[in-house]
Amino acid sequence: MNWIVEKPKQRIVVMTGAGISAESGIQTFRGANGLWENHRIEEVASPAAFSRDPVLVWNFYLQRRRQALSCRPNAGHLAVAELEKWIVSAGGDFLLVTQNVDGLHSRAGSGNVIEMHGSLMTSRCTACGQIFPDKRTDLELPPRHNCPEKGLLRPHIVWFGESLFPGDMERIECAIEKCDMFIVIGTSGIVYPAAGLVNFANSLEKRTVCVNKEAPANVELFDTFIRGEAGKELPQRLFPRKNREGDG
Ligand SMILES: [Zn+2]
Repeated sequence: MNWIVEKPKQRIVVMTGAGISAESGIQTFRGANGLWENHRIEEVASPAAFSRDPVLVWNFYLQRRRQALSCRPNAGHLAVAELEKWIVSAGGDFLLVTQNVDGLHSRAGSGNVIEMHGSLMTSRCTACGQIFPDKRTDLELPPRHNCPEKGLLRPHIVWFGESLFPGDMERIECAIEKCDMFIVIGTSGIVYPAAGLVNFANSLEKRTVCVNKEAPANVELFDTFIRGEAGKELPQRLFPRKNREGDG
């Protein structure tokens, strides 16, 4: 049996994209016409949209929050979380980087996670800057923070035209520089800056593995490509779970 990760005392970086969440039923918020309730996505996911109409923007994100809460982590999310425990308990290093904002990795038990595009389950005060977990789905809109300034809350999401959160890219690049293997799951390979990280890992001659339903646009950059669904492939291929559990 060829496991993707054969021994636990290693430094592993995993990056996931929309594909792993699609298997949990997380739907694209764009309709067949590419619009959300007749709005272009840029009209509900940008700083300009939020200053123009915070209620509209919050309605969009509350709908997505409700939808994400109605979905459950799948076997792929669980396998990634179990890999982390296996690695960490053996003294290795593990970092999960996700492009997904649905919070399913945390719910599956992942601990060291960078949600590079933010989270539907986190809000941020535009006045005092506090960032906090927020799974409320019935809010008086637009919601206000209970700080002295009563600041307007916004989703802690990286919007169109915004940079990643301070420090995230540095932490990710630092982890890739030190890693023994970079595993990419469920991404199309075309969304930057995530796609750039594959180039980065390659330039450092890191071992790279991709698990995806389809060959991604940058498939030639990977040492190993495993075609299939994360929820099916990861439990069987990611690491030797059966040996660990003393099976057989
Ligand atoms: Zn505040």
